Amino acid sequence: MVDLSAFLADNPYFSAGFGLLGVGAGVAVLRQGARRGADLMRRQLLVSMEIPSHDKSYQWVLAWLSRRGAETIRAADGGANASWMSRRIAKAVLPRHMAVQTSYKQHDNGSVSTNFTMVPGQGKHVFFFGGIFVQVDRQRNAKMIDIQSAAPFETVTLTTLSRDRGIFSSILAEAREHALAQNEGRTVLYTSFGPEWRPFGLPRKRRLLDSVILDSGVSEGIVDDVRDFISNGKWYDDRGIPYRRGYLLYGPPGSGKTSFIQALAGELGYNICILNLSERGLTDDRLNHLLTVAPERSLVLLEDIDAAFNRGRQQSEQAAFQQSMVTFSGLLNALDGVASSDERVIFMTTNHIERLDPALIRPGRVDTKVFFGNATPHQIRKMFTRFYGSEHASLADLFACAMEGHSVSTAQLQGHFVVHKRGPQAAVDHVASLIGTARSS
Ligand code: ADP
Repeated sequence: MVDLSAFLADNPYFSAGFGLLGVGAGVAVLRQGARRGADLMRRQLLVSMEIPSHDKSYQWVLAWLSRRGAETIRAADGGANASWMSRRIAKAVLPRHMAVQTSYKQHDNGSVSTNFTMVPGQGKHVFFFGGIFVQVDRQRNAKMIDIQSAAPFETVTLTTLSRDRGIFSSILAEAREHALAQNEGRTVLYTSFGPEWRPFGLPRKRRLLDSVILDSGVSEGIVDDVRDFISNGKWYDDRGIPYRRGYLLYGPPGSGKTSFIQALAGELGYNICILNLSERGLTDDRLNHLLTVAPERSLVLLEDIDAAFNRGRQQSEQAAFQQSMVTFSGLLNALDGVASSDERVIFMTTNHIERLDPALIRPGRVDTKVFFGNATPHQIRKMFTRFYGSEHASLADLFACAMEGHSVSTAQLQGHFVVHKRGPQAAVDHVASLIGTARSS
């Protein structure tokens, strides 16, 4: 009988196969070991921070990266007095795959110019920040769509050595500062977009408070009241009172209500969130949510509040429903700010205060009511000298005298001065044409 084990041991083919199998298994174990080792090292040595595209800082970081990208390109090209060393580094880290981002720059005269900026495209890039290498990995998930913006879901992941983790806070802080500096001296207007607020158009140049001419003491009264409110958060907090304040500006159209709110925002360095209650698709829940999530340091403006709700319309639920889906009680609830503990300054404007339900304008919902009327003699004189210069004070008196007994809005007055921009005498000479549009009072 043949001994099987001796036969196999003597068989050269079998021994070779067995040997190969052993080598293969060894390599596989080594490879897995190396991968695990690399994973472990990565976990121990590297830290990363992921910024999803729906996070507010995403745009800030992208804009900041684009600025750094531009600096790197300049350094690699030898500009900005770059040393040999920094040129080498810049060349080494220069992103190879770029994407274009178009931005608009608004000049002081309101004109807009277009600017193209290169931002790091999809994939991995390296940059140098404060003497530390940071890897940027920009990835797009084509299968996931951000339902709010309808854009593909993206993430930017920053990775660096774990001992340098503090660098992330510095990058985020610098990116935020850079973003805020862009809006410095400007007012951002937000409008509602689904459940969130989105900037509407480009940030506007701040309107100066003294460009809106109100009757004496009116502007100062509101500014003092708002300032007092926003500097007393602790007082409200200590007493458990909701930290919000409502203002109603009422009066005829063209009396400067909206312009004043813009100027007030500029004066305080606040932005404005404008909401139209008649907007289609606006529901009680969305309204409540929007008032709760309004961006920090912003005034919420509910314009022409009577257009959405007035006593007559309230009696007809059907009519109110057709206008928008916000119910009157929904609005009251939202104003009461059940869910909000943050600072909330709400401005409402109306041309017809008499049409508003008393429940809407009771203290707590509307704390201060201010009348914006047609131009008073004081406003007429002030607007005149603002347009033509204080040296024409006597012509201003003459003009105000001629307007006595005639009621015009400040917007009409502005229109008259724009037509007669050539000189104050023309404005006085043609005062009859303005009186022709006025109502006698
Ligand atoms: P309202 O909101 O009361 O209808 P707006 O603020 O929209 O009025 O004003 C319309 C236009 O008239 C704007 O161009 C604004 O500059 C001008 N205007 C109206 N009132 C004043 C005012 N009191 N002072 C300066 N400009 C004014």
